[in-house]
Amino acid sequence: MRKISAHLILDGRDRCYPKGILTLEDDGTILDIEDTGGVLHESAEVEFFSGILVPGFVNAHCHLELSHLEGAFPEGMGMVPFLKKVVEGRDAELSVIWKAAERADLLMHKNGIVAVGDISNGTNSFEIKRDSKIKYHTFIEALGFSPDRAAKAFGWAKNCLEVGQNLGLTSSIVPHSPYSVSETLFRAIAAEAKETGSILSIHSQESTGEDELYRSGTGEMIGHLRNNLSIETTFFQPTGKNSIESILGYLPSQNNLLLIHNLYTDQADIDFIKSAREPGKTWFALCPLSNLYIQNKLPDIDLLRNNALKICLGTDSLVSNHQLSILEEMKIIQNACPEITLGELTTWATYNGANALNMVDWAGSIEVGKHPGINLLTGMDMGLEKLLPGTRVRKIC
Ligand SMILES: [Zn+2]
Repeated sequence: MRKISAHLILDGRDRCYPKGILTLEDDGTILDIEDTGGVLHESAEVEFFSGILVPGFVNAHCHLELSHLEGAFPEGMGMVPFLKKVVEGRDAELSVIWKAAERADLLMHKNGIVAVGDISNGTNSFEIKRDSKIKYHTFIEALGFSPDRAAKAFGWAKNCLEVGQNLGLTSSIVPHSPYSVSETLFRAIAAEAKETGSILSIHSQESTGEDELYRSGTGEMIGHLRNNLSIETTFFQPTGKNSIESILGYLPSQNNLLLIHNLYTDQADIDFIKSAREPGKTWFALCPLSNLYIQNKLPDIDLLRNNALKICLGTDSLVSNHQLSILEEMKIIQNACPEITLGELTTWATYNGANALNMVDWAGSIEVGKHPGINLLTGMDMGLEKLLPGTRVRKIC
């Protein structure tokens, strides 16, 4: 057993305890949270840390299996050239993929991440996730814009799901994006999701090309499908609507759904999402450093925040990020949205992600009975309770 305290404890649900005391079991389970009212009497049994204690971070979106492509592509390529490069470069020797994924997993652990929503297009990273100290939910992505490919793509995803389940991984089959999944494939994924109640995720509105594809059947994304992927696209009928409005109806509204990126999501899209889905079942996963890397652009964070949406944070993969650190993503958000409090930002970085990934029984908040991991943030502006460029995270347990 261990008692710890710091200048401030943020519990992940926007409650704070100045100089509160946490009593922890040896395995990190929280036995007690003492609200000292900010007055801490010196005691030999309490370890005091200078800084702020927060729950372990939850990375809602990553692709561990792409870690070997770290630094392979320059920044600012734009979406379609980036996608082309990933398709061309993702294959490598298994030993190379494993080594990089293993290193990335350790890096996330060191950065205070306790849970990850991780995309897999195959089984390459499964053993690493099984053996990790981090708890993963694996999103097995099905891909195929041509309806002819649907049966094969879904069959492949089902095989991966079975391999994952045999290794004890929690996993679900999800669509990659509106521009890479046909209606037939969407319907197969949705039927499975409805039956199992599984968690869904989709890359959404990461580029203007995606909306243009659905609105008018023109633009860079249709060019990518035809020219880079050699897909025959004459079957495709534009809907005259944005991508999210065109495809959301395929997905069961009662399942948890993580919408990833939301770089071009506007108020009309948000109104539609709210009307189409059951309340409390949709999360907006933001990966700001990845968006800056690929397109030098951030989502309209104020818009998402003003709509009181459930926001969580992801790093995306090392292909489009120099690090896998939720703290570094938080710094970008705070700079873009200075009025956000550290309490709210911590909720995005912890509780909301755990909630989306169905892990709130143990992760995401400092509550009695949970074992969420505890991080210490140091090098803060303690007066303003703001992150600084030099703020660091240290794993306490
Ligand atoms: Zn992604």
